[in-house]
Amino acid sequence: MSICFRFHGSLTELLHNRWQGRKEVLLPFTRAAAIKDVLEAFGPPHTEIGSIVCNGQEVDFSWPVSSGQEFEIDSISAPWDVTKTSLLRPLPLPSLKFYTDLTVGRLTHYLRMAGFDTMYDPDQRGRPLAVSVQREQRVLLTKNLDLLKYKEVEFGRAVRAVGPAGQLWEVLCLFGVTTLKRPFSRCLACNRLLEPVKKETVMHRLEPLTIRYYNEFYICRFCDRLFWPGSHVERMRTILNGLM
Ligand SMILES: [Zn+2]
Repeated sequence: MSICFRFHGSLTELLHNRWQGRKEVLLPFTRAAAIKDVLEAFGPPHTEIGSIVCNGQEVDFSWPVSSGQEFEIDSISAPWDVTKTSLLRPLPLPSLKFYTDLTVGRLTHYLRMAGFDTMYDPDQRGRPLAVSVQREQRVLLTKNLDLLKYKEVEFGRAVRAVGPAGQLWEVLCLFGVTTLKRPFSRCLACNRLLEPVKKETVMHRLEPLTIRYYNEFYICRFCDRLFWPGSHVERMRTILNGLM
């Protein structure tokens, strides 16, 4: 007897080529395994799966597959509240914070500009990165499907959009963010919160034109970078307003 799998929602985008466009896949039962491992062999990382129903009953990732079973597998649907318990993710996150990797490096700045706490360490790869994501209790954003398949990564998203603005939009939609709480409040370089600083105390670090046109300044106490609402902020504000 075989096992039947039906994939729904955005999971179909992540199926390996041989299963693309198939309404259902029948596989012979060959060995005992947990449904999580069986599903990941089709392509989609476990982080993309929102629900698994076996013969009409909702089950978790440890469910043992056996012959004659029929599975309906659905993607995570928006808005995704990572602070709520679910059958597949019994330990929710304390808050919505992100971890980005090299494959979506430019998205890091966009998320920080939008006010999201976003960690990025280009030197970390593979399992050490997955362990950091788990320890930091963050959502991993990446285009690397193999990275999302580490068991340590419980919350993650295979980012589909190509450019950083589209990627930010994808993230805002998935997590149901309709208003930005603190845009332009974080250091773009190191993610720390910025503090306002008096113009006269940083005057010696500014170009003449900046002194002439700007009066509002912020400093990162960690990396000592200065920020002011210049042209890049205006450009970003336009993008954010367009997206929201
Ligand atoms: Zn900084």
